[in-house]
Amino acid sequence: MDSLEIPLHLTHTLPAVLSDLESTGVREAFTTPTIIELEGRRKDPLFVSFLLHGNETTSFYVLKKLQAYLQTHPLQRSLILFVGNVYAAEAGVRFLEGQSDYNRVWLPGSTAEHDLAKRVLDHVSKGRKLFASVDIHNNTGKNPFYACINHLEDSSIYLGSLFSKTLVFFQNPDSAQSVVFSKICPSVTLECGQSGQQEGIEKAFQYLLDVIHLESLEHPSFKQEPQIFETVGRILLKEMINYSFDFSETDDPLQFAEDFESLNFGFIEAGSSFAKYQGQEPPFHVLNDNNQDVFEEYFAIYEGHLRVKKDFVPSMLTQNKDVIRQDCLGYIMRKI
Ligand SMILES: [Zn+2]
Repeated sequence: MDSLEIPLHLTHTLPAVLSDLESTGVREAFTTPTIIELEGRRKDPLFVSFLLHGNETTSFYVLKKLQAYLQTHPLQRSLILFVGNVYAAEAGVRFLEGQSDYNRVWLPGSTAEHDLAKRVLDHVSKGRKLFASVDIHNNTGKNPFYACINHLEDSSIYLGSLFSKTLVFFQNPDSAQSVVFSKICPSVTLECGQSGQQEGIEKAFQYLLDVIHLESLEHPSFKQEPQIFETVGRILLKEMINYSFDFSETDDPLQFAEDFESLNFGFIEAGSSFAKYQGQEPPFHVLNDNNQDVFEEYFAIYEGHLRVKKDFVPSMLTQNKDVIRQDCLGYIMRKI
């Protein structure tokens, strides 16, 4: 291995000091990535991961609420909690310069973060059957609360539908925690809106309690049929393209509407304008799961606009230029 090993601490209690901390102080409770095993009445453990992305703080506040709850309530199901990138959380960023993204390292790889993820996976899966896996995240744009699933069998759909009737199915990136865990148990990612918002914290915490109290993931029927979307393309802006979000008097060749993020999870019809655009070449790539550019399937450049060629539903569209550069502009989905 070419980098120093990241320490992984194993404990059986949630430290009391947690109750006084904000997310940037997380290392006062957990100096390194930590696994906390708590024994409950039902023995198949629920795995929950926190702070895989250091600037997505909702999971930290869910953990604090869980600690407070367990002061006065017996635990109905065993839990294995993984507190991930405490270093990035301390700095308030997704991951630190030089680190690998903690949610892209769950398949074998060569970095210290891959090695850490492997030790976590080996530890939690050795000699026991997990009840389910829950990974808690936020996104930057305006999105409804939704859950991502990585399998289309009933137990995963049910697990996701307990959080939201809006579900997103994906299998790429295949090194994401939830994709890898979906091979060993029903697995879900919670997208709890923007980081640290109280409503998302309450909803994710209530969801955890609901799952902890479930007898099983078998169910007679859905109260409300969930809507399942599948991501079919990831929108990556080409470098050097100047763009803005207000249709103002700028000379930027690419201009999105001011309320761009409100398009998320709405239906975009063929024929509508996605952006104003002065240029000949596509300003962005739309990459499918095989990394092929399918721009032309969805968009046409026509009379100063990017016209939509085929109906789709967007998600995770963001106006945050750092996220656009580090990750992407958003995703194109279709309903399953
Ligand atoms: Zn995340």
